[in-house]
Amino acid sequence: MKYTVRFSCGHVEAKVLFGKGADRDRTIQHWQDHGVCTDCYRQAQVSQEQKRSSEMGLPTLTGSEKQVTWATKLRLEMISERQQDILALGIRASNEKGIRARLAEIGKDALLTEVAAKFEGDKRDHAVDFYCKAIVAITKLDEAKTQPSAKWFIENRQER
Ligand SMILES: [Zn+2]
Repeated sequence: MKYTVRFSCGHVEAKVLFGKGADRDRTIQHWQDHGVCTDCYRQAQVSQEQKRSSEMGLPTLTGSEKQVTWATKLRLEMISERQQDILALGIRASNEKGIRARLAEIGKDALLTEVAAKFEGDKRDHAVDFYCKAIVAITKLDEAKTQPSAKWFIENRQER
């Protein structure tokens, strides 16, 4: 059944409901008392995403208003995914900090040479391989945290 519902935000929206009459009435009552329409819901999400981005100290995105709104959401998703990638490698926060500091100090090549000099044989291969992956993951996270172009996030978004 199609219903016209006035949500608690004051906006009216058409909704389709199935199931028992009593359940439908309860859902409609809940929407009228506590629910917000699709536009207001999305607007609240956008505000949350903007708030979270500024709390994280992320740069202001450049682009059209529409691009910036979309990219704000995409950026948070990308940062979260790239943080997961770092965790998946078994890198703890203190490791990450150390690697990032050394990377800034001496650069990727010198860091890998330094790591290689500390170990021998299989251990060396493993250590160098681990650091290569760690450097890529950390660099990708930093890229997402510093990139100011909304268009970049839209072009590099993960399709799912
Ligand atoms: Zn509304």
